[in-house]
Amino acid sequence: MRVIDNLRHINERINEACNRSGRCSDEVTIIAVTKYVSAERAQEAVDAGISSLGENRDAELLRKQDIVKGNPDWHFIGSLQSRKVKAVVNNVSHIHSLDRLSLANEIEKRATGPVRCFVQVNTSLEPSKHGMKQEEVIPLVQELAGFEHIIVDGLMTMAPLTEDTEKIRSCFRALRELRDQVQKLKQPNAPCTELSMGMSNDFEIAIEEGATYIRIGSSLVGNETGGVQQ
Ligand SMILES: *Cc1c(COP(=O)(O)O)cnc(C)c1O
Repeated sequence: MRVIDNLRHINERINEACNRSGRCSDEVTIIAVTKYVSAERAQEAVDAGISSLGENRDAELLRKQDIVKGNPDWHFIGSLQSRKVKAVVNNVSHIHSLDRLSLANEIEKRATGPVRCFVQVNTSLEPSKHGMKQEEVIPLVQELAGFEHIIVDGLMTMAPLTEDTEKIRSCFRALRELRDQVQKLKQPNAPCTELSMGMSNDFEIAIEEGATYIRIGSSLVGNETGGVQQ
């Protein structure tokens, strides 16, 4: 399938989810997750009108950045080792995987300008999932108060892989409630207006619960193995 046809279909589903929940579709930005596919396929997404691309590995992100034209925003969505920060921090617009103070310290040290970060939260409490526990988020944000470069733009989560849509919904709802609590801190470097949640299987539920960034890989650009594997 061409990306442009997949995108048309996804946009219809976004519009329907927005209608159901009284939201406006321009509040929702699609991040095309290109980690499974080639730079050519990433280019096809940009040519179809996508302006944000997501990658979860530093080398692959930098490689594609060299090839893809059209100046998209690059989002780092994978778990980030501190020793990799230097390579990515000044080449991405957003980091979706801030999950510990030591990582924040490294970002702060290496950044040459503002870095928009999402604090990644483990809302499902599945041990296999990355992210902080919900109760750790406010203390972390408060620790970041004096940081010059880090902006806490929002929160990010991954819902569990399950057929149980109520379980998925409760994870997204928990993230939104936590986002509202962070906003109440009124901390200058933590506007925390954004919610990065929802993937190919669950983005409609995420939108109904307030997602502002959805991260879509397989149903948009595919997950063919011609590109780079997970
Ligand atoms: C791979 C990945 C996605 C996209 O997943 P799909 O199910 O293919 O849409 C989204 N977010 C993160 C963090 C990922 O690693």
